[in-house]
Amino acid sequence: MPDVFADLVGQDEAVDTLRRAAAAASAVLRAAAPPAADAAGDEFDALADESDGCQPPAVDTGAGMTHAWIFTGPPGSGRSVAARAFAAALQCAYGTGCGGCPGCHTTMTGTHADVRLVVPEGLSIGVNEMRALVLRAASTPSGGRWQVVIIEDADRLTEAAGNALLKAIEEPPPRTVFLLCAPSTHPDDISVTIRSRCRVVPLVQPAPEAVAEVLARRDGVAPDVARWAAAAAQGHVGRARRLARDPEARTRREAVLAVPRRLTGVGAAFDAASALIEAAEAEAEASVAETAAAERAALETALGAGGTGRGAAGAMRGAAGQLKDLEKRQKSRATRAQRDALDRALVDLAGFYRDALTMALRAPVAPVHTDTAALAGAGAQKWDAEGALRRLEAVLECRAAIEANVKPRIAVEAMMLSLWKG
Ligand SMILES: [Zn+2]
Repeated sequence: MPDVFADLVGQDEAVDTLRRAAAAASAVLRAAAPPAADAAGDEFDALADESDGCQPPAVDTGAGMTHAWIFTGPPGSGRSVAARAFAAALQCAYGTGCGGCPGCHTTMTGTHADVRLVVPEGLSIGVNEMRALVLRAASTPSGGRWQVVIIEDADRLTEAAGNALLKAIEEPPPRTVFLLCAPSTHPDDISVTIRSRCRVVPLVQPAPEAVAEVLARRDGVAPDVARWAAAAAQGHVGRARRLARDPEARTRREAVLAVPRRLTGVGAAFDAASALIEAAEAEAEASVAETAAAERAALETALGAGGTGRGAAGAMRGAAGQLKDLEKRQKSRATRAQRDALDRALVDLAGFYRDALTMALRAPVAPVHTDTAALAGAGAQKWDAEGALRRLEAVLECRAAIEANVKPRIAVEAMMLSLWKG
């Protein structure tokens, strides 16, 4: 029987943290259970204090358990997989996430009475839903362990819902645990005040071998395709899956990898910059447009748009605010999608120059992009290691500049000029 953390690909550090926390949580329950069992150790003090009725410290910085967590990481790294596995370990009869006991089993299949999973479908998480959730979460767990609330896209909380959640996290019921999932702890994703009350579990991009294994085992991708996609995606699970299955994703990647041989002059460098920016915009638009339209339609339906009843005028006044709120969130999501698409392109490009560098150094490592290895080899001969390194650095500097809010077009143009001149 594989334990509940088995599907977390290449996240050893996070799994270690969660296992320790689950063990600490289990010890808290044993300590609280009558007749008094062994006294809890130091690391459990945060929660042990809670059961004394004292105001608990908001965040336990030690190795133990705390009542509010944020799982962050790039899409596809397994945020919600991690949150669910941790919930199971908290409900596990053995406190380990054994995978076999009823607590583990019902949590993993989504039927545990004390585990609430919030997945906003179409709409954002609104304040009424959040208040009801917080109220329920405060009740005594029926299974005698923990009330667990998993919020899958915590970056999609409305401001009012975020405030309702914050209140619960600030004054936590003694047996309630909140597990939030968000792309990052950037204030666009999660409010600073919520973040300050939570312990963060950052998930990393897993190793290519681990990703290839999962693509083959879980998605039935042929092993050689899985290996190619995992290497080309540089360990990003979602990206690897898309490359293995989606011809359009492969076409976009090929266009990016064609950049190096197109840089024949200043004009060509500016053309390449435009092409890269526009491709990222198009990709981002395609990825968010469908969701955005569906969300708007769902919200309008929920608000009873076009209704003529007596309540309609009042409802529409509230509706205008909610629509504005939705538009604001959609705009920030579109911006993020664009930034992500451009970043993926830059990561692909960095992989190419990294291949040229390792070839120039004759380092015994496999290329990231097997399909452009010959081109990278030609680059290695022409530029030598130093030239390849300068180009790799130009790509990494471009990523850093965009991260620091330099206008993408300006950063990409500067990069293309450096790539051309070397
Ligand atoms: Zn178990």
